[in-house]
Formats: sequence, C-alpha cells, structure tokens
Amino acid sequence: MARVGLTKLTFSICLWQLCFEINVNMAPADGGPSENLNLEIIDFIQNLGSCWRCAIRFTRERKPEAYQRKLVEFKLEPEEKLLKASPCVICLGLVQDHFIKEVFIDEVCQQVLKFDCDSATFSCMVSLPVAIMLREQAVWFLLTEKFPDLLSKNLKIDYVTSLKDVWKFVFTEALEKKLNKQLEHSSSPFQIHISILYKDEISECGALVDICPEKFKHRYNRTRVYREGIFTRNAAQSVLSGLSAEDFQKYYTLKLPNVSAHYGPVQCSHNSIHIAGRYQKFSRKLCQTPWLIEGEKHMDTSIQELICKHLEPFFKTQSVKFSSSGREDVDVRTLGRGRPFAIELTDPHRTIFTQDQITQLQNVINNSTDAIQIRDLQAVTKEQLSVLKQGEEEKTKIYRALCVTLDGSTPTEEDLAKINDITELVLMQKTPLRVLHRRPLAVRPRTVHEMKATLLDDRPGHFILRLKTQAGTYIKEFVHGDFNRTVPNLCILLGRAIDIVALDVDAVELDWPPVIAIQT
Ligand SMILES: [Zn+2]
Repeated sequence: MARVGLTKLTFSICLWQLCFEINVNMAPADGGPSENLNLEIIDFIQNLGSCWRCAIRFTRERKPEAYQRKLVEFKLEPEEKLLKASPCVICLGLVQDHFIKEVFIDEVCQQVLKFDCDSATFSCMVSLPVAIMLREQAVWFLLTEKFPDLLSKNLKIDYVTSLKDVWKFVFTEALEKKLNKQLEHSSSPFQIHISILYKDEISECGALVDICPEKFKHRYNRTRVYREGIFTRNAAQSVLSGLSAEDFQKYYTLKLPNVSAHYGPVQCSHNSIHIAGRYQKFSRKLCQTPWLIEGEKHMDTSIQELICKHLEPFFKTQSVKFSSSGREDVDVRTLGRGRPFAIELTDPHRTIFTQDQITQLQNVINNSTDAIQIRDLQAVTKEQLSVLKQGEEEKTKIYRALCVTLDGSTPTEEDLAKINDITELVLMQKTPLRVLHRRPLAVRPRTVHEMKATLLDDRPGHFILRLKTQAGTYIKEFVHGDFNRTVPNLCILLGRAIDIVALDVDAVELDWPPVIAIQT
C-alpha cells in the first residue's frame, strides 16, 4: 500500500492551528471519539494519502465552516508537496484544494445557465463514482483496525460525514453566486444533477465483481438494462454491507489514484407546471387532442393544439400533457360553462408568472380562434389535479340531442310524456362498435337520471332530447341503440327506429377549477 507521510509533529501543529482558528469542536457530543483520538484519526488518514477535508470527515465533523477554508497558511513540507501532487486517496481530488479549479465550477454553471431557467432556487444532486465508495470503505476498515475503540462503540461507516455534503459545503457559495440562485436544502422545483466521473472507475470497481460475481455477472450481459452503469451505488452498497474487513481486504487494496475525478455532464430539470381551465367547443370538426393515424395528423388542429401553441412559448417548454374531465366526439359541441381541463407543461424554463399574465394568455387564445373559448385559466398544484379524475363516474353531464325518427313519423305528446316521466333509468351499454378498436369489450351499467323530449314544430319527425346522465354514458348509442348493444334505448322506449342528428354537451357538472373573476 502506498503511504505518503507528513511528520506527525508538523501535522499536529497545523491541525491545532486549524482547530483553534475555526473553532472546530473535535469531540462530538454524541459519545464519539475524544479530542485526542480525533487528532490521531486525522493524522492516520492523512498519512494514507488523503486531503485534509476527507481526513476530518472521518471524525464526524458536520459543521460546514470546518470545510470552507483553504489552509494557505500551512507550511508546506517536502512530503506534503509530494502528497499534493497526487489526488486524494479518498475523494480523488474532488474537495482537495490542490485540485479544485474555479474553471470546473464555471463549466458546471455554464451548463446550468444554458438551461435558462428563471427559478430563484435550486437543489443539487451530486453523483459520485462508486470507486470513492470503495475507497471510503477501505479507509474505514484500516481505521477501525488501527483504532479498535471505534468499533467497540459500534460505529459504522455512516459515521463518516458524506462527501456529497462536504462537496456542497465547499462549493455552494460559488454556485449560488454564479447562478444567482439560492440552494434549497430541502427541495427546490429546479434540480441540478452533477455527475462526477473517474477514468479508472471500471477497473477499480472490479473488486466488487471479485467479491460477489453473481451480483454483476448478468449485468455485463444486459448493459441495455443497466444503462446507468454496471456499478451502481445500490449494487455496491448491497455487496459491501455486512462484509468483514478481512473479506474486503482479500480483494481490495487502497492505492493512490493516478488521475483525479472530473466533472461530467450536468442535467437540469424543473418540476412540471400545471395549468387548468374550462373550454367551450363550438366546432363539429375539431378533436380534443391531436388525432394521429400511424404518426400522421388526421386533422389540422385540435383543442389541445389551439391552447398549447400559446402556452408552450410562454412557459418555454417542449412537451405538454393534456387531460380533461371526459371528452366529446369530434362532431359534438361543448357549451354552457365548458369542460374542465388541465395541461401539464413538462420541464418549463419560465416558472415565475402572475395570474394577470395567465389571463392575458387566455385572451390571446380566445382571440386566435372561433372554434373554442376558454375561461378560468389558472395555475393549479399537482395535488389539485386529482379532482379531474376523482369520482369521474359519479359526476353528471347534461346533453342536448337533436333526434329524428327514421320513418318520418312524429312522436305524439303521449309518447314523449312516457319518456319524460322516466328517472334513474339504468342502461346496460356494451362497448359501442365505433370505439371497439380502442376500448376493451365490456358491458357497463350507466344511469340516465332524467330526460325531457320537446317536439320541433317546424321539423316533422325531429325532436330535442335533453338528458342528465352519469358521466361515461354513450348518448349516441342510447338514442339509436347500436344494434341493441345498449338496452334499453330510445328506439325501444318509443317503439320506432330513431337516429341522432347532432349532439351538444350542455354542462359538465364539475365545479373545478375555481372561477377566476376577470377585472375589467
Ligand atoms: Zn479528499
């Protein structure tokens, strides 16, 4: 094992200076090692070739300020210069003054700024090479061999302050300054994921395969499945947990690294923004969402596109998901107060906005088309969205259908009175023929709560049927019967063949989202 040493005396003086100047409490209050033992631990770990930050991690130092200074006043001994030429044996130079270059953080920030997100906060995830985990484990075993007292206190490796935390202690200030955003320690909707890479990752992690060949054998053959890498932290964790020092050391020897770790790609993402409202649909040639047949658009536009083509550029998002409280057929209008809908804007780059701006967007959308009008446009939380789907079956909808008798006869007032008296009529609806290609075959009970038919004086054989039904009732099929796949149906009730000429949704009785009062 390579060991590069400082003289104990030089180091202890430096360390005392450090403790004194930054007022580090070297004796944790939770019954950890004493002050003197901590000094010996630091000395021992630095002699293995570690940087000073990694060394104090092993004393369970948790205070950020303990890690946030450069020890420029340390007198460099020849041995220390030699040590500094090699990356730290544990963190691979990641939090080691000699290897910290401002340009690294600049590059990370450049990548984040390219994402151009206006969020005032961020949270930061750092993924470390698994090789660092192995190195920490190796040092821990050496440490507990050297200081059996640590083991007698039943301390485990999670006693060591995590390198991810220390990375944040060291770099947060620079990140915040360069990004002009605050780090949110709990969770920010804007997440930055920084990958730290290491050239010798695969060869060093080979020890894991030697320790537990079964765990990794199939991973080598299934690199497509294990895209994130053969060696994940979870896999390493499960191999290392419960492993004795003796078994570990049979396969792994701590060596000074040849190269330092480096920064890989930075990924940014922002939680979705959800916008809700209600739409009225005045066209009988408009579908709700893009109608694609083998990837080709079947109709010019859709309700989703008419709305989203204005939302997408505003929120600087590339993809949207449209959902609504049910949907009408292409040839059905939706009138009244309209149908509630919600749009998920994924990975938005614009995240700060006001209700006034949303109302302006609503006006722009309404002025851009005669086919739809929207109202009550507003931001909602993800949790509120459940209202759209919750109890969908219990919601009622009100329809108006223009019907015609196929033999041209006009129903008598008595005929109509018969159906007007019916309430809570339960239909058994077999999946309609027209949707059988995309819906499973089933028989669904649906309730017509009430009906009212009115003759049209100027159009013989025609009448208007108003219905209040359970959501999910197929109205067209109730009228024409769908070859008796819906029973009872209007043909049976009136004793003659009937067809539907036009259908409107008059009300979707879901009081959501809340009404937005427009200031005029
Ligand atoms: Zn280190």
